Amino acid sequence: MALEPPPEGSFTSFEAAEISLHDWSESHGYAVVLKRSKKPKWKTDESGPYKYFYACDKSGESRSQASGKRQSNTRKTDCPFKLTITRKSGVWYLEVRHGEHNHEPSLNPAQYPALRKLIEAQEESIKSLTRSHVALKHILLNLLQQDPNTHIISQDLYNFRAKLKQQELRGITRIEALVNMMMEKGN
Ligand SMILES: [Zn+2]
Repeated sequence: MALEPPPEGSFTSFEAAEISLHDWSESHGYAVVLKRSKKPKWKTDESGPYKYFYACDKSGESRSQASGKRQSNTRKTDCPFKLTITRKSGVWYLEVRHGEHNHEPSLNPAQYPALRKLIEAQEESIKSLTRSHVALKHILLNLLQQDPNTHIISQDLYNFRAKLKQQELRGITRIEALVNMMMEKGN
């Protein structure tokens, strides 16, 4: 698997750009983390930063090579991969600043802090819907309808993703495939 950079493009919201970014990187064997953001110095009606800087989660100094410690899968490699999401005239642009990595793909999404953060955020809305006695099936549908590119939210959805690929090949939509899976699980 090549560690391909995400396609550059424009998005109607920062959230859409970020979700697309994480979705791409996760399915291409790496994770990106937000490093910093810049707020406009000029007068604007739009709140918040206008520019976000992302790097590979293996960016930064590699740990002391003299320590003699066993190198783990999550060690930093000073990876140069980086990109930005920038607002220009109300549109968000994803731009790759350095498209190459200096390490092999990682295949275990659970080890990615960036991914866990997204999962946790979605778990909150699932929990609140669960407290309102909304069935799991409807919760997931709800998430998908809000954002068809919604991120994986649990082990169920990791499994779902694999299954979806098979079903998409047979022309079934993402939502239909999800319902089928939930039905099979007896939810
Ligand atoms: Zn990297």
